[in-house]
Amino acid sequence: MAYDYDDDNVFAKILRGEIPNKTVAETEHSLAFHDIRGQAPVHVLIIPKGRYVAADHFYGEASDAEILDFARLTARLCGELGISPGAGGSGYRQISNAGQHGSQEVPHFHVHLLGGRPLGRLLEAD
Ligand code: AMP
Repeated sequence: MAYDYDDDNVFAKILRGEIPNKTVAETEHSLAFHDIRGQAPVHVLIIPKGRYVAADHFYGEASDAEILDFARLTARLCGELGISPGAGGSGYRQISNAGQHGSQEVPHFHVHLLGGRPLGRLLEAD
């Protein structure tokens, strides 16, 4: 896979402690924090601590431990944030943008976890 990771991206700076974040949870391999421009009552970003650019990079090259940590943290947060339909919540959406057509702004793999209001259909019209 031919991904070049940019160590100057904003999430790399957050992981190095160079800029602040509103942390929701931290595990051995992952960090979750509030999106600075939240678009729903719940808008949390979940990132691996490793240097991965996009979902296919992470799921293709990260260790089993990193992937499991990330997945379990995501599940845990759905419960803790009260959005899991399996625990009485009203539901949520996970979004992971990649590259130009995905409108990815920050080139460090992340999942947006959104909930707390109806989120509409998957894609808006152009
Ligand atoms: P994406 O288009 O998927 O790359 O989205 C990147 C997200 O990161 C956007 O929703 C931004 O609001 C968010 N973001 C950018 N800088 C920060 C920051 N310093 N702290 C928290 N969220 C941020």
